[in-house]
Amino acid sequence: MQSFAPASIAPGSPAPYIGRFAPSPTGALHFGSLVAAVGSYLEARTHGGRWLLRIEDVDAPRSVPDAADGIVATLARFGFEWDGEIVRQSRRTAAYEAALDALKAAGHAYPCACTRRELAHEPLARDGSRRYPGTCRDGLPPGREGRAWRVRAEGVIRFVDAVQGEQVIDLAADAGDYVVRRADGLFAYQLAVVVDDAEAGVTHVVRGADLLDSTARQIHLLGLLGAPVPAYAHLPLATNAAGEKLSKQTLARAIDAHPPQAALLAALRFLGQNPPDALAGAPLAELWRWGRAHWSIAAVPRRRQAVADGFF
Ligand code: GLU
Repeated sequence: MQSFAPASIAPGSPAPYIGRFAPSPTGALHFGSLVAAVGSYLEARTHGGRWLLRIEDVDAPRSVPDAADGIVATLARFGFEWDGEIVRQSRRTAAYEAALDALKAAGHAYPCACTRRELAHEPLARDGSRRYPGTCRDGLPPGREGRAWRVRAEGVIRFVDAVQGEQVIDLAADAGDYVVRRADGLFAYQLAVVVDDAEAGVTHVVRGADLLDSTARQIHLLGLLGAPVPAYAHLPLATNAAGEKLSKQTLARAIDAHPPQAALLAALRFLGQNPPDALAGAPLAELWRWGRAHWSIAAVPRRRQAVADGFF
């Protein structure tokens, strides 16, 4: 049986910077995902760090065939250079299984029989899921069978996000005990992302602010698994003119519809960087050179912003 093993740093050696970009292949890359790619890439490179690429296809039913290949091709066309092999979550089931086994063995995870319908009237957590009332926490109700696996969530998680500032989340008051293996047998995103980041030794997570509300649970889970907690930076969300997050649901346009130079320039501006107008017609390599020389996480705005016409 595989055991869960977070990467470790030899005592006394300086911590390397390991960043990553982790798109879900639910469709083509859109402007919002480009922003996360650019932010995580420039932050890693300006720290002399590595930048890993992981395809988050743990949710197989939501993954679109060929979307992963399309994303990789788009990233290459934009001139991103990732380090090492691309990791695909769909091939990492054994690692998730080992982590869940460790959680079960330590008494942190328990089976849950509740259906979505039974929880439909519970208050909403920050991420839009239903707060779990703890029905199966002390054992399954008589005659019921476990469907999902949940982790006991207690305590207050505090962290300082490099863009969004100080965060204080009371786990029980927010989402409560959360799912790590779903009723359909798939591993939950929260577990997969934590196991993958820990095994790859990721030290810095730079991603979209839509994931800020998941971060407390991920920090909690890392603690239960004995893995180090990375630093976090959550980038402002890109929205359409109606203020909705760009996504497949809001029919966000594939970033491939634009010349990479124009899209990269727009992403840098969106991230609060100030590329000179003279770069507008410059080749891609020159834009990247400018980005690496001038990137500043301190200049990244906190709030969500609507994207210029044409990018959604
Ligand atoms: N797969 C997630 C997404 O595409 C990102 C997860 C992460 O960066 O932690 O929204």
